[in-house]
Amino acid sequence: MFKKTNLVLLGGPGAGKGTLSSMLKEKAQFLHISTGDMLRAEVKAGTELGKRAKTIMEEGGLVSDEIVTAMVGATLEKDEEKYGMLLDGYPRTLNQAKLLDALLKKLNRPLDAVVYLCGDDDFLIKRLTSRIMCRKCNRIYNQYAFPPKKAGVCDDCGGEIYQREDDSEANARKRLITFHAQTQPLIDFYQQKGLLIQMSCGERDDVFAEAITKLN
Ligand SMILES: [Zn+2]
Repeated sequence: MFKKTNLVLLGGPGAGKGTLSSMLKEKAQFLHISTGDMLRAEVKAGTELGKRAKTIMEEGGLVSDEIVTAMVGATLEKDEEKYGMLLDGYPRTLNQAKLLDALLKKLNRPLDAVVYLCGDDDFLIKRLTSRIMCRKCNRIYNQYAFPPKKAGVCDDCGGEIYQREDDSEANARKRLITFHAQTQPLIDFYQQKGLLIQMSCGERDDVFAEAITKLN
């Protein structure tokens, strides 16, 4: 289905990385590593890691490289299919990118491409603050573009639909400022390696069509 299968997905909060991941996974056996989902699971479980992460995320900050890298490494080592991987939300910083490089060398799984979903900040903020999700299965909806069929109820599992605290406008703006500051060095780093594929974020079907073309 795809020629490039070991991928990093980059994009500001709200750029649609999660949605693109879901669409790619429908087509092929990618291992989807969403550090956001990993962290939320830890928070929900109330682990020591989860408590630390919760405080940081509520302030609109980002969890440490060491914590995230350890989680990603453990997940990759458990992967038996090895069709390909979608790293979604990691690496976020140049330091993490270098840690990832070392990790993938050790695991003998080099990256094929780094997909960067670009959009302007106003577009991303509107999108972020309209994002809602299922409390039970974490499926993400957009209350304007693709709402659940019945308001407040998940199509897949019947779970309750809610808005995350960190999807407020103030938090969205803070996260975007952090994202730009941290991501530009990352973009330069992958561009120098010849791995960067730039794509515009927009309608999901357009994004997916572009992905199919550019990943082959
Ligand atoms: Zn659900």
